[in-house]
Amino acid sequence: MKELSRIYSSVAPSATLSVDAKFKQMKADGIPVVGFGAGEPDFDTPDHIKQAGIRAIEAGQTKYTPTAGTVDVRKAVAYRLKETMGVEYDWDAIIVSSGAKACLFAAFSTLLDPGDEVILPAPYWVSYAEQIRMTGGVPVTVFAGEDQRFKITPQQLEKAIGDKTKAIVLNNPSNPTGMLYTGEELSALTEVCLRHDLYIVADEIYYALCYDGMPFTSIASLGEEVKKHCILINGVSKSYAMTGWRCGYAACGDKRVAKVMANCLSHSLGNIGAMNQAAMAEALRGPQDSVEEMQKVFEERRNYMVSRIDSIPGVSCLKPDGAFYIMMNIEKLIGRTLGGRVIRSADDFAMAFLEKGLVAVVSCDAFGISNYVRWTYATSMENIKEGLDRLENFLREG
Ligand code: PMP
Repeated sequence: MKELSRIYSSVAPSATLSVDAKFKQMKADGIPVVGFGAGEPDFDTPDHIKQAGIRAIEAGQTKYTPTAGTVDVRKAVAYRLKETMGVEYDWDAIIVSSGAKACLFAAFSTLLDPGDEVILPAPYWVSYAEQIRMTGGVPVTVFAGEDQRFKITPQQLEKAIGDKTKAIVLNNPSNPTGMLYTGEELSALTEVCLRHDLYIVADEIYYALCYDGMPFTSIASLGEEVKKHCILINGVSKSYAMTGWRCGYAACGDKRVAKVMANCLSHSLGNIGAMNQAAMAEALRGPQDSVEEMQKVFEERRNYMVSRIDSIPGVSCLKPDGAFYIMMNIEKLIGRTLGGRVIRSADDFAMAFLEKGLVAVVSCDAFGISNYVRWTYATSMENIKEGLDRLENFLREG
């Protein structure tokens, strides 16, 4: 038989989802594993949002809608962006699709021709690299290690830009690092981006989860020219515990981008469920107390996890500023035998820890950095305590 698509055959499965699949299989087999893999809030969707979805079904909102979303939900996105980020968009500059993931895919499809380069700060969320490749682009990574709090500098960015550079991805706060670029740091980066006329794909999906009172700055709020070059990506999965509703959005400073994205979606995904759009509109317009409550709970969990990891010999971590992930440094464990396996990499550690320690964490090897594993604290305090007790025993017993 003929070969399958060269581009798609080389796409790696999502590292986070494969650990989660193995974890779920072990759980289904009755093994008492604890999972820190998928970044999915353990909270339920707030009731007023669920009710809006139910009301929409009962009112017969069960048909096709415009591909990029109803006018109502796009106005709700514009309202939330103005209220929270201080940035103004017309409703027709907004695209609503099946999660931030689909919005990102439509954005890369819209921006890239084969061979176009996209700057990708590493460590990165693995789907960026694969989506850029799937849409014909070439990810060019710029590495920022722990010594620079996993944040790239304008000098590094400048050096990585070449004739083929079309865009940059900026994820703030970051998955997997949990780090937050300040307004000043973002300004310095955007100065370089504008000088080279780069599109900025700004994934701000974790904007509501910043800690220690650190203010979040949306990159699009840094001036009209920056906004024009930005495609803001966001959604309700993380801030409103709505992962299963598959609702995300893009806000485009240049309406040409919105138009091409909508065309692209009109021939691929089509619109998302009309009732989901109604629930999303309620999330964005309705009471925001649950967002703040969840943020507080995440902050408490982060504090607990960081202090426990700090107290365990052989591992360490930086205190994240936002999102709900911790990158744990396992460099000191390299060469040790744990769970009957010689640990040569984070992949080895994650596998040994899952099989013998019965805890699922994600190796960061696929995120563009060696010797780290990622924990999420989007899980109950009870699980967090259990997971860290197991880590302590796993390292003690070897
Ligand atoms: N961006 C980042 C940085 C993420 O971590 C995730 C989810 N893991 C997404 C986008 C996708 O979110 P969704 O498609 O559920 O909106």
